[in-house]
Amino acid sequence: MAATVASATREIPLVDLKAQYRSIKPEIDAAIQAVVDQTAFVGGPYIKQFEAAFAAFCDVEHAIGVGNGSDALYIALRAGGVGPGDEVITVSHTFIATAEAVSLCGAIPVFVDIDPRTYTMDPAAFAAAITPRTKAVIPVHLYGLPADMDAIMEIARAHDILVVEDAAQAHGARYRGRRVGGIGDIACFSFYPGKNLGAYGDAGMLTTNSADLAKKVRMLRDHGRTSKYEHEFEGVSSRLDGMQAAVLNTKLRHLDGWNAARRNLAAHFSEVLAGTPATVPFVPDWAEPVWHLYVIQVPDRDALLAQLKAANIGAGIHYPLPLHRQPAYAHLGIEEGSLPVTEHVARHILSLPIYAEMLDEDAERVMSLTVNALKSR
Ligand SMILES: *Cc1c(COP(=O)(O)O)cnc(C)c1O
Repeated sequence: MAATVASATREIPLVDLKAQYRSIKPEIDAAIQAVVDQTAFVGGPYIKQFEAAFAAFCDVEHAIGVGNGSDALYIALRAGGVGPGDEVITVSHTFIATAEAVSLCGAIPVFVDIDPRTYTMDPAAFAAAITPRTKAVIPVHLYGLPADMDAIMEIARAHDILVVEDAAQAHGARYRGRRVGGIGDIACFSFYPGKNLGAYGDAGMLTTNSADLAKKVRMLRDHGRTSKYEHEFEGVSSRLDGMQAAVLNTKLRHLDGWNAARRNLAAHFSEVLAGTPATVPFVPDWAEPVWHLYVIQVPDRDALLAQLKAANIGAGIHYPLPLHRQPAYAHLGIEEGSLPVTEHVARHILSLPIYAEMLDEDAERVMSLTVNALKSR
């Protein structure tokens, strides 16, 4: 019984940002101090340095910093020419920012179902949803697992559809050996603090191999400017600030190591949970995921979640209510049951804590509690 777990047990959060800071404190403090000393708050050398470093990391030609991941998605669609009346195909099983970006352009989000094993866009569902108005597609590399990009790219190319990768949860993940961020036409990253690469505030990035898209993105993030007092079109004010760039550039050096630590934890979790009623994450042979989240499916999800919470373990659900069932999209009139895999998954998924600094004893506590709870069903 979970009730035997002492209520005074130390918290195990979903992600431990304090532990991460402690592990790199001198580097981070020096980076922040340098920005302050130079008052390089907006513009300046740190943004250029981080853009160059992140482009190299993703193995792409261009990386352009913006204010956050949601802005990155909006700017990517605008740069790709998405506008009123266009349709943009994406998944319902994602964070709302993916779809908001579409509506902000005046376009219509078209939600398709996911693959039941990878939780990412089902390429056949994408193909089936294409109409003459389809302008773009946004596959989401959810939980750090790349979507099936070869299949998606082939369909998109055949129909002249822009491919925008939502890589907000997948910094460093690989698809058939290639980093995400350079596979579609353009990609969007979030550096929200809890992401695999997180800022000390809000920040985002676009990556692309297209010089033309990169140029448009640079203008769109800065009021459509061609020069100080000349604006070719309306854009937005979405800046990556100097402090965030300096912090992110410092943290980027650790990212592959942190992702490797997450990978070890995920492998261990999947081994321990193998004999239980839990469905562990599926890793297709084309994917090297970065485990932004470790998500299992269980028969009696809400009961397990309650038991974990009672034991002070920060489990979560990503996401409990699919976008097509959200009040925000009621006007689209999408009926319940229309995306059966998404709806089924939303009822059964549970995210367990995972982060590079997780102590072995904490990993064991999460595992033993989960295993015991599932056994006692
Ligand atoms: C975090 C996230 C975003 C939005 O990023 P912000 O930086 O919070 O604006 C977009 N898409 C997905 C899938 C995300 O997880």
